[in-house]
Amino acid sequence: METINEAFKDKVLDLTVSGIYVYDLVRGINVYINQQYTSLTGYTLDDINGMTQEEFFTLFHPDEQTAIGEHMQEVITSQLGQVIEIEYRFKKADGNWIWCLSRDAVFDRDKDKNPTQFMGSFIDITDRKQAEKELKIFNQQMRFKNKELEQFAYVASHDLQEPLRTVNSFTELLEQQYKGQLDGNADKYLHYISQASTRMSALVKGLLDYSRIGRDKQLTHVDCNTIIKAVQDDLNSTISKTNTILDIGELPTIKGHERELRQLFQNLISNAIKYRKKDIAPQIKISAQKDGEHWKFSFRDNGIGIAEKHKEKIFVIFQRLHTTSEYEGTGIGLALCQKIAELHDGKIWVDSQPDKGSTFYITLPN
Ligand code: ADP
Repeated sequence: METINEAFKDKVLDLTVSGIYVYDLVRGINVYINQQYTSLTGYTLDDINGMTQEEFFTLFHPDEQTAIGEHMQEVITSQLGQVIEIEYRFKKADGNWIWCLSRDAVFDRDKDKNPTQFMGSFIDITDRKQAEKELKIFNQQMRFKNKELEQFAYVASHDLQEPLRTVNSFTELLEQQYKGQLDGNADKYLHYISQASTRMSALVKGLLDYSRIGRDKQLTHVDCNTIIKAVQDDLNSTISKTNTILDIGELPTIKGHERELRQLFQNLISNAIKYRKKDIAPQIKISAQKDGEHWKFSFRDNGIGIAEKHKEKIFVIFQRLHTTSEYEGTGIGLALCQKIAELHDGKIWVDSQPDKGSTFYITLPN
């Protein structure tokens, strides 16, 4: 039994993917390293025991030498059975650096319980570290590009407003002063120019609103009941004209961006009214439920509904399912809602079937 155990242990130590070593604190030398130690680092037991402690210490990357010193201290003063981890760079015999993940523990103590030996195992995590570094750089670049894009959209939409206002007002003047004095075609063309520039103004304004989301980072405690009430007041005339019935449950107070949340609720209610069925008055049920760390809001309507294949597309900026002659709009509303939900680390999605109404869900933080 004893020999099987010894043979088993030897085999395990040879087969393991970890480098393993035992260091004797009293003699100041390594008393054991396994084959994988040599495979990973290129050093034999004689190589490392032939180095002074100072020489051996230079094999740790200068950036991690302080941490290594603290780690050793922590291992030596640790309780029996306690395992301590560290990640560091180590210089191989061929001069290349590898990243290692080590787990170390006291292996033996003298009769006064002072540690006499410690052992550790380590694996090569260079690939993981490289991937982490690349991901970090990629994320930074993405963040930078996103910021740049947002800035571009903001500046472009902001600066486009002024010349557009000029086009709009001169088209209006031209129509007022010369309508009927030119030929029929000219009147028609003027009408198209006026329509197109009004629409362009709406699109540019939408884009500006979109790029403004989150520019003001002010977080406050927002009572959603108050916001819904304000939205209801804003939409008062549309609500009464369309005989809309609103059924609003008790809503929570959450930590969020007040202006943006108001915009989110307003867009969802306006859409529920806009995309109503022709012969049925809109009914909108708004409620919120606690869902773990979040609140899950739902906006249910009895409108025209949305086909399965369009459920994601509708959240993409400028994507619309109808022409402007069927339903007015710019295709920005739901993209805005999505950006607002994401600003709050939340999500928005829809559950719907054509002719069966739609329920928009949003998760928002506590
Ligand atoms: P817009 O209303 O300006 O077109 P939105 O981004 O608000 O832009 O909506 C995108 C599309 O999603 C709309 O064109 C419409 O087809 C669909 N949609 C949005 N809300 C509803 C709703 N409550 N019921 C049915 N369809 C909806």
